[in-house]
Amino acid sequence: MKLAGKVAIITGGGGGIGRASAMLFASEGARVAVADIDSVSGEETAEKIKENGHEAIFIKMDVSNSESVKNLINESVRRLGGLHILFNNAGVGNSEVRSTDMSEEEWDSVIDINLKGVFLGIKHAVPAIIQSGGGSIINTSSLLGLKGQKFLSAYNASKGGVVLLTKNAALEYGKHNIRVNAIAPGVIDTNIIDHWKRDERRWPIISKANALGRIGSPEEVANAVLFLASDDASFITGATLPVDGGGLTF
Ligand code: NAD
Repeated sequence: MKLAGKVAIITGGGGGIGRASAMLFASEGARVAVADIDSVSGEETAEKIKENGHEAIFIKMDVSNSESVKNLINESVRRLGGLHILFNNAGVGNSEVRSTDMSEEEWDSVIDINLKGVFLGIKHAVPAIIQSGGGSIINTSSLLGLKGQKFLSAYNASKGGVVLLTKNAALEYGKHNIRVNAIAPGVIDTNIIDHWKRDERRWPIISKANALGRIGSPEEVANAVLFLASDDASFITGATLPVDGGGLTF
């Protein structure tokens, strides 16, 4: 059991990567708070974990709202008895348009969820993790946080920002025994890529654009997140780990 006795929060825990990670964390002994803006999928993840005989709660919240994030941390600490691991994973894509055609509202919304959401998670969770004796924060960047892609300006900028925010937090809180790392998934089989799957022209290219020639599963990403969350990664901090089937080789 790699996370025995640990308390973990997973934002976006109702979705593909978040759900797979929440279930894996729980099976490795963690008490898990599943956090999501969507009550139906979030509750479902918590229920699945409990059906498997493990401990989980669901908390409805919005990562872009400071009060909501603060409440998530306080409730998790109160109900689960501390906090050791935060997986800042909730995120959204943006409609594929040139920057000149993107509305400021959409830009703000993507940055607020994907980048400010990670900042708020760090801001409110760090004191609780210090109180619990230290731990690990994992942030979800993207392959598209490490390389550019046309028509995804807000997503590119938000996920690139997560890479440096991760290094910053690693520097600020290493002395407090908190490691902060990021993952950079490539194309993973979740709801966020549904529109690509429906694109008959581009999907055959997108789905094979890496060294392995296939897309990844949420469980394959969860394995990497577990590694970074656990003591197996005890001397790793400030890193961004690609989980992309070699997508960066292109
Ligand atoms: P998903 O859409 O299945 O999951 C995202 C989850 O985040 C959903 O459950 C959604 O309800 C939740 N969410 C959205 N906005 C929220 C908010 N404001 N507050 C709280 N929860 C919110 O997709 P996924 O692929 O599992 O996405 C997880 C993360 O992985 C995202 O950050 C995404 O950008 C990133 N990512 C995904 C891929 C991929 O190909 N699937 C690739 C690279 C990075």
